[in-house]
Amino acid sequence: AALVTVLFHLGEMATATQSLDEETFALLGEELGYKLQVVSPEDEERELLSTFDIDFEAELEAEGDEDLEARPPVVTVMGHVDHGKTRLLDAIRKSDVMAGEHGGITQHIGAYQVTHNHEGLDRKITFIDTPGHEAFTAMRARGAKVTDIAILVVAADDGVMPQTVEALNHAQAANVPIVVAVNKIDKEGANPDKVRGQLTEYGLVPEEYGGDTMFVEVSARQNLNIDELLGAVLLTADAALDMRANPNKDARGIAIEANLDKGRGSVATVLVQSGTLHVGDTIVAGTAHGRVRAMFDDDGSALTEAGPSRPVQVLGLSNVPRAGDTFFVTADERTARQIAEKREAADRNAALAKRRKRISLEDFDQAVAEGKIDTLNLILKGDVSGAVEALEDALLKIDVGEGVQLRVIHRGVGAITQNDVNLATVDSAVIIGFNVKPAERVAELADREGVDMRFYSVIYAAIDDIEAALKGMLKPEY
Ligand code: GDP
Repeated sequence: AALVTVLFHLGEMATATQSLDEETFALLGEELGYKLQVVSPEDEERELLSTFDIDFEAELEAEGDEDLEARPPVVTVMGHVDHGKTRLLDAIRKSDVMAGEHGGITQHIGAYQVTHNHEGLDRKITFIDTPGHEAFTAMRARGAKVTDIAILVVAADDGVMPQTVEALNHAQAANVPIVVAVNKIDKEGANPDKVRGQLTEYGLVPEEYGGDTMFVEVSARQNLNIDELLGAVLLTADAALDMRANPNKDARGIAIEANLDKGRGSVATVLVQSGTLHVGDTIVAGTAHGRVRAMFDDDGSALTEAGPSRPVQVLGLSNVPRAGDTFFVTADERTARQIAEKREAADRNAALAKRRKRISLEDFDQAVAEGKIDTLNLILKGDVSGAVEALEDALLKIDVGEGVQLRVIHRGVGAITQNDVNLATVDSAVIIGFNVKPAERVAELADREGVDMRFYSVIYAAIDDIEAALKGMLKPEY
């Protein structure tokens, strides 16, 4: 509450549960006489890598124009549910001019590449084939930039819908150019011009209205204008982006999806963003690491190497990376393992820090002083009802002091149960067990959730501890 007051004086409206943006946070620190620094995940990662003498920024700076070669654009398909994203991804895949040639069976690996003949040249385009913006958002939340171009699918018979707007907001926030696919033009009631008009209001002005967004009328069901759509993607990419990467170095990129396969172990699809990935390379991807044992294409054929913008399935990792985790090649297996282990430890610490937020008897007084809390919630469990009642009576007679309350939110006879722990979690309560203990499973849950549990067999010992906690005199237990 005190922080909210300071913020208010600084001209910022805030509530006690809201998280602050970086700027407000810095301002707040200044006002309170501290220099506060926000450590971003990127900073943390940079620091971790620097202990292994890895510096990707320096590597990029050292790269000259002559090192860069054209790479295919990477495309995500977004839009409202049922507007035809899945169907369109299928139609695009079938349009591949090379499809007949390798003759493999198409595999769903989370991404695929097609070849499209554009102005006399065969050019490749990579599609992320998890439709919808959930994947896009999850990856972006991890700081990963995967997509060069977004295709926004809008059904011509339905028009702009809430998820259409959400999708275009995500793409615009990430600075990703948009190509609009006005889908289902085969349907009766299709009104593509209405879609053009609607999207103009969101800053997507069609070229034919003098803007710079390409709109293509398609039918995913009838395979209509799919080539035109791919052409528009390439034109937009060529006009807006520098799609080049250095293929002649160790690979770096992003994990797209991964799963654990009974026979093959960890199976991860990664998108190479720069460099070339080889079978036999050692990589680290999030908290997974290992030597690339084998690589497969989206048609199931084995590969020995994969260059920029190429999605490949990788076997050989120690476990399963998350979508959006970055991967890169390391000098040796030991380095990969150590980086993975450090990240795992950092994840554990973050989980611990989250748990520590719950109330414990030791920090109750501190939490009161900080204005975070003014009530000590207790859950009482005992072996016999007489003892529970006596304990409650005695507790309620404690002189709690100014501005603080003590509340027994639940009492009962019997062992401490999972339900008690859940209640303590929700209501930030401390559990008092009188001659009772929790089962091991319940104790583990309490530990995981950071719920403080205390066990007594003498009523006065319990009263003493609670009084001490209220006065901030309780010594931590080690
Ligand atoms: P998603 O939820 O955006 O992935 O949409 P789907 O691809 O699953 O398509 C939703 C429904 O619309 C399905 O029944 C498709 O067959 C249908 N559909 C998709 N594209 C077209 C199209 O171009 N024309 C028509 N008439 N139906 C389509």
